[in-house]
Amino acid sequence: MSSARPVLSLRGVTKHFGGVRAVDGISLDVGEGSITGIIGPNGSGKTTLFNLISGIYEPQKGDMIFEDRPVQGLPAHQVLRRGIARTFQNIRLFDQMLVIENLLVGMHTRLFSGVFDACARTRRFWAEERAAAAEAMKLLNFFPELAEMELQIVKNLSYANRRRVEILRALAARPRLMLLDEPAAGMNATEAAKLMKDIRRIRDRGVTVLLIEHNMSVMAGVTDRVMAMDQGEKVAEGSFEEIRAHPKVLASYLGSENP
Ligand code: ADP
Ligand code: MG
Repeated sequence: MSSARPVLSLRGVTKHFGGVRAVDGISLDVGEGSITGIIGPNGSGKTTLFNLISGIYEPQKGDMIFEDRPVQGLPAHQVLRRGIARTFQNIRLFDQMLVIENLLVGMHTRLFSGVFDACARTRRFWAEERAAAAEAMKLLNFFPELAEMELQIVKNLSYANRRRVEILRALAARPRLMLLDEPAAGMNATEAAKLMKDIRRIRDRGVTVLLIEHNMSVMAGVTDRVMAMDQGEKVAEGSFEEIRAHPKVLASYLGSENP
């Protein structure tokens, strides 16, 4: 949906690590309400681009505009408050904590109690905690696979369910843009097919989605547009069908173990 207003615009975004040009002059418009895919062989800079957008790294050059305001240079927690949430290629959850506690952590970015309220256990603090717990329980319904798992310790869940909890932890912040870094990794074909529908349901909640994924049937099934990267650069952009057949994209995968 390139015609939609861009919710995120990247212009010449660059991050080098010493001599490694991890991300090198990337420009991209992400249409509001779209699902935009990013593909590329291992080491092509996809995760680094997410780390830049989400404020883990600051770009050395370039501009990143989210909802008409710059986000470059903001620390990660402020980027999250501005409405950009993410999941990680290697799941990052509090493994020893309960499922519901992980969702409450995700929600915490937008609760209003200050340190004083929390320490003094004010009425406001308890009212917010109760509302947050209710909302977390409601959020859990998003994945029927997680039904009645709120009091499970995360580390005891299946891999696919931990991926689902991580998506909910990100959704708990009520983002308007979600960055999903290889959400189908480690899932079997049935789980990945289901995930495709889940990603569409995330979009249907009004959340724009940026998706890194090696699973090409997931990419084909959900994306409006795809950007292909190689060695930190954009080598092609278009529909999945256009990208799949693009000579530069095919060339970038030669000699790599990825599809
Ligand atoms: P992808 O997600 O496409 O597999 P990455 O963004 O993880 O690629 O990595 C792009 C390149 O940047 C790789 O060569 C990687 O080794 C390098 N890189 C990523 N993060 C760092 C870092 N923190 N320090 C040094 N090099 C890094
Ligand atoms: Mg990666």
